[in-house]
Amino acid sequence: MEKKLKPSTLCVRGGWKPKNGEPVQPPIVQCTTFKYDNTEEMAMLFDLKKEGYFYTRLQNPTSDSVAAKIAALEGGVGGMLTSSGQAANFYAIFNICQAGDHFVTSNEIYGGTYNLFGVTMKKLGIECTFVNQDASEEEIQKAFRPNTKALFGETISNPGCRVLDIEKFARIAHRNGVPLIIDNTFATPINCRPFEWGCDIVTHSTTKYMDGHATQVGGCVVDSGNFDWDAHADKFLGLTTPDESYHGLTYTKAFGKGAYMTKLVAQLMRDLGSTPSPHNAFMLNIGLETLHLRMQRHCENAQKVAEFLHADPHVAWIRYCGLKDDADYELGQKYLPNGSCGVLAFGLKGDRDTAIKFMDSLRLVNIATHVADARSCVLHPASHTHRQLSDEQLREAGIAPDLIRFSVGIEDADDIIDDLKQALTQI
Ligand SMILES: *Cc1c(COP(=O)(O)O)cnc(C)c1O
Repeated sequence: MEKKLKPSTLCVRGGWKPKNGEPVQPPIVQCTTFKYDNTEEMAMLFDLKKEGYFYTRLQNPTSDSVAAKIAALEGGVGGMLTSSGQAANFYAIFNICQAGDHFVTSNEIYGGTYNLFGVTMKKLGIECTFVNQDASEEEIQKAFRPNTKALFGETISNPGCRVLDIEKFARIAHRNGVPLIIDNTFATPINCRPFEWGCDIVTHSTTKYMDGHATQVGGCVVDSGNFDWDAHADKFLGLTTPDESYHGLTYTKAFGKGAYMTKLVAQLMRDLGSTPSPHNAFMLNIGLETLHLRMQRHCENAQKVAEFLHADPHVAWIRYCGLKDDADYELGQKYLPNGSCGVLAFGLKGDRDTAIKFMDSLRLVNIATHVADARSCVLHPASHTHRQLSDEQLREAGIAPDLIRFSVGIEDADDIIDDLKQALTQI
């Protein structure tokens, strides 16, 4: 039913369905635990034989209503909120990978994800291979091994602003019998719904546009329900063989299309517990109510700012897929026909200090380790978010040392451009 409604309507009305006399907003169920009349009923919940709430670490009605809204926006079978985008990406992979497994990822990904995949998950015995997403299918194929369990990419990469060829990645993943997982944070389901292009699982840092007001950190995982785990049963034993922590229940047998999501909640969230607070979920929902309006304005403003920077003689290069001569213009037209996002990347003629002088001269635009919210802000990844990466790793991750990430907000575009103009004259 929900899936037939347009994304704008789902932003406002998805998820929470008040009954007669109930509040129009999902109530903040700020509670850790839920009461039952008898032991038998609660035992059924613990055995996953009945649906219901018993402890907020696993599930909470406020959070679930918001996850349902995001799942409806993406067109998935279910969603789960996490306490951060980092947790969302970790859970999405860890749900199908264990020690001894391997996955393949584009190297055009967020710095935090790069560290998680390349350093921390390696310590858990899960290896990954970074590939250049522009490489041919044959070239990317070489990264796959018999123990490869997933392929990963970002719809629009942070901070490089590259557009992923989702259909190409889906073809490669499926040829190898593994799901394609996409971090859709920057595009949001307003501008791209990766499931429509063959992606299987979507993740979000809801901290960004979904929240939109820089008020809470959060994440979400959504499953399309389309990947056939049983067809590759020997690869995904965690889903296709009995879980000893649930009395030998097998997720694919017991839950069908809901197998991946059920394992995510009932096993990973139970054991790792990166759950958001119900209050944060409530705030996230308020952000979601205007996501469609804000994305439109972010894109309009970013297009104007991109055209201004493109024409300015101080600017050495710029990446924004809305510019006709951008290398990803065609991919943008295909996957993001209504606009991409408010984030663009550029470099100034000069050296590292030129970038710093420019940023320090900005008056309206904030210097902030953030991106994708109502206020325009700017960041120099080489000296901020990605400072733990060596120059070589920076280049491998597609980040030039002079790259400035500019997140165009929803202020008046003229005021943003005026600020840029005055800062550019200072350098
Ligand atoms: C910010 C971000 C993350 C991490 O999300 P947090 O909410 O900060 O943990 C992951 N992926 C992308 C694309 C991001 O922009």
